[in-house]
Amino acid sequence: MDFKTILQEVYNDLSQTEDKGQLASYIPELANINPDKFGIHFFSIDGIHYGMGDHQEKFSCQSIIKVLSLCLAFKTVGVRIWERVGVEPSGTPFNSLVQLEYEKGIPRNPFINAGAIVICDILISHLDKPKEEFLDFIRHIADNSEINCDSKIAISEKAHGYRNAALINMMKSFDNIENPIEEVLDFYYDICSIEMSCEELAKTFLLFANNGCIPSSNERIITTSQSKRINAIMQCCGFYDEAGEFSFKVGLPGKSGVGGGIVAIHPGKYSVAVWSPRLNKKGNSYKGILALEMLTTKSELSIF
Ligand code: GLN
Repeated sequence: MDFKTILQEVYNDLSQTEDKGQLASYIPELANINPDKFGIHFFSIDGIHYGMGDHQEKFSCQSIIKVLSLCLAFKTVGVRIWERVGVEPSGTPFNSLVQLEYEKGIPRNPFINAGAIVICDILISHLDKPKEEFLDFIRHIADNSEINCDSKIAISEKAHGYRNAALINMMKSFDNIENPIEEVLDFYYDICSIEMSCEELAKTFLLFANNGCIPSSNERIITTSQSKRINAIMQCCGFYDEAGEFSFKVGLPGKSGVGGGIVAIHPGKYSVAVWSPRLNKKGNSYKGILALEMLTTKSELSIF
């Protein structure tokens, strides 16, 4: 069976499946999204791609973007990044505070909120205009100048960001934040609010399926080793306290966001993005996980 047929089957099956879960209402602006949106887009590293449903509609990337901020920080500062953030799964929710105190302000990995906030701090220390330069970095990889932040989402999250304020203050108390707290959080909320469609995300993430090079131009963005390491972190930490379950069911490195998106990659083969805004209790898209589980089961193309 070819991938297009499989994708069509997954889409048709899941369009008729009852959705469970809730919108991420802790960011009030995200609660205004139509919960029935559903799109999926597949991109092979040879450039063959197909999409279904709402695959060309932009949505809030939220934590998916943390893979790209890690990518830019790793490219910019190299291995010194690991002095500030770990590479272990947390086994805790994305916004958890508990490990930070006994691990002396060093977050377990760059994909939980604490870790992503440290990555923002590193980028601010090394870039002249962090927001513009980060957006340009993504636009370049995506070959798309229409990628932007959604200021309504960023403002909405900031107004309710008590948890992230607690995380950054705790890390500051351990000297793991170099820049003013307000500046780091503003940058963090801006990058979380970046909007992209499934098609744009799948195309952008091909670089991680292609050893750090953009397949269409062969331009190298990060080294093969850096790409390997980022994929490993996606595999172990991309779904917080559901990372084991995602590996077990889907068998691909991936990353979710509370906007309801998930991107997963198969090194050497393809990238796939799915969007369905209702989240399970762990903050990951309910239908998104089902879709990817069906995809790798039917195609027999997981990394295992
Ligand atoms: N911006 C969100 C937050 O800080 C990102 C969380 C997520 O997508 N898991 O809570």
